[in-house]
Amino acid sequence: MQSTEIQAKIAHASSIFQPSQELMSNNKPAADNTAAHATNFIRNIIDADLAENAYATRRWSGKPGTAAEQQDAPLDAAKIRTRFPPEPNGYLHFGHSKSILLNFGLARDYGGVCHLRFDDTNPEKEEQEFVDGIVESVRWLGGDSALDNPAAPIYFASDYFDWMYRFAKHLIEHGDAYVDSQSAEEMRVNRGTLTEAGKDSPYRNRSVAENLELFRAMRDGQHAEGSHILRAKIDMASGNINLRDPALYRIKHAQHHRQGDKWHIYPMYAYAHPIEDALENITHSICTLEFEDQRPWYDWLLAKLAEVGELLRPLPKQIEMSRLNLTYIVLSKRYLKQLVDENHVAGWDDPRMPTIVGARRRGFMPEGFQLFAERIGVSKSDSWIDMSVFEDCQRDVMNDKCLRRVAVLNPLKLEITNYDALSEEICMAPNHPQHPETGKREMPFSRELWIEREDFEETPPKGFFRLFPGNMVRLRYAFVIKCTGVEKDAAGNVTKVLAEYLPETKSGGLGADTVKVKGNIHWLSAKHAHASEVRLFDRLFKVPHPGRGADSQNGSFLDDLNPHSKQTITAYLEPSLLTTTPESLFQFERHGYFVADRVESVVGKPVWNRAVTLKDSWSPPK
Ligand code: ATP
Ligand code: MG
Repeated sequence: MQSTEIQAKIAHASSIFQPSQELMSNNKPAADNTAAHATNFIRNIIDADLAENAYATRRWSGKPGTAAEQQDAPLDAAKIRTRFPPEPNGYLHFGHSKSILLNFGLARDYGGVCHLRFDDTNPEKEEQEFVDGIVESVRWLGGDSALDNPAAPIYFASDYFDWMYRFAKHLIEHGDAYVDSQSAEEMRVNRGTLTEAGKDSPYRNRSVAENLELFRAMRDGQHAEGSHILRAKIDMASGNINLRDPALYRIKHAQHHRQGDKWHIYPMYAYAHPIEDALENITHSICTLEFEDQRPWYDWLLAKLAEVGELLRPLPKQIEMSRLNLTYIVLSKRYLKQLVDENHVAGWDDPRMPTIVGARRRGFMPEGFQLFAERIGVSKSDSWIDMSVFEDCQRDVMNDKCLRRVAVLNPLKLEITNYDALSEEICMAPNHPQHPETGKREMPFSRELWIEREDFEETPPKGFFRLFPGNMVRLRYAFVIKCTGVEKDAAGNVTKVLAEYLPETKSGGLGADTVKVKGNIHWLSAKHAHASEVRLFDRLFKVPHPGRGADSQNGSFLDDLNPHSKQTITAYLEPSLLTTTPESLFQFERHGYFVADRVESVVGKPVWNRAVTLKDSWSPPK
């Protein structure tokens, strides 16, 4: 890509969630900037819906509610409403970023609103820690979600439990739901298979009065878990298994993170989710492809609830897209939790984890996620994206945004034998070669320097243009030097390189170009540099499809963990980096992009993480 194109993309990406101010102050739509996007099938659906005013009559009281709450409210100023509905049972991963950026991006582009909705209907696995972590991650990615922000509100599905309960009673009263008392095993057997119809439950014809009484007793905690469930009454012979009397409520005597012990029954995801969408006035409910077969159920349920007067039309529309699959990582909360629980990583925010909190610690940038989301687009066909695509997006953004600094990761002493031992002088290095407006910084130069061990060879292989005895190279931003010899220890290892400098060749000076050399290496003045802990990360897994790799005998993804995914070294860094604040991100020239770890750095003593190298040089570890 041309750098101007990248800059334009980045500028666009970083404006991704500017809240729709107009929406909040008056009812005009936000500026239309859809032209900046490649179109996709979801945008086509929305365009068509808006063209025929399909959602223009929706009313919005300012918060979620049933027909009773909404029908006398003003027209909804949001042209569309989308939502990102995480279950708070873990931290968000890279897959979620696709959904977040899509849903918030659509809301932005169409003068709409995107809701962050916690799908907290399952009391057992959910925790406040995850709620807080998810809000932080969504905001880091660019969302403005906040409890009091009508342009990007936060809602909790558990706040709708009373409505969901009432809706279930309507279904019972209209003969559309019943309490089933078969055992789980009987229900499984009677559900049938893809090729065989299911069998009606012997409890399917209970009277409305009996169903209502049982359901109330379930709610009040008078029945044991597993003794009854509430099911929709549709068709046990349906070709779509999702329509074979799906479960609506189960008994759980559990504590809920927001509701305490108020409830003894909890709605099933399939029942709760469409209702959540409808109560929130969602227009386009985007989910992943595996929910395609659920769509008839989604529509059936909402139509029933509209018929009984609980919901207003138009009803939300479910749209399925392919999920993000990325190589060299796992994107399933269950696996990520296992990595954390079994201490294969140092927590959800370990910089190697494909979580948003991990990415942030690693040094990846939200703008890189935005660029990635734009590049991969959305479609209906399942595919794998190579990790290098993600890394390239991060590089493109960081290359533009990060100031340059110097670090020597594998130090070797270099002595300039014709430089006075008591002298020192200042060399000037640009902060960013493509952005001269960022100015220059001072790099002290003195007789004893650190260079990279890899930049010296006693016997150079063919094509080696860096330092070897007799050869000349430029010390970047400083002088041309000529290697005159080495010092060795008893074992014959090179402990120091000796060289002479050519004073007239100082970079930026009149004689800078008088001597032409092929090699150009970085350096640090030994007495000015400081030592810092630096972590070099590699991919967490050594195969593209963990769990299906060569080493996974029993098919466990754990067999494919890369044993060399983290290396901790002590490196020398240029003086200006000592006072860096946590989370500052730089390009260390020739080495990649590094961030001052936001958790373990203290001011005056940063600890560094390498997010990614400068170029894609990945090869499988041995
Ligand atoms: P996991 O499969 O890791 O457990 P999940 O789907 O259970 O994830 P939720 O909290 O239910 O996690 O997901 C919230 C939203 O994120 C859902 O709308 C879901 O469609 C979306 N999502 C989850 N994983 C991906 C993915 N890999 N690509 C795109 N969207 C995803
Ligand atoms: Mg899920």
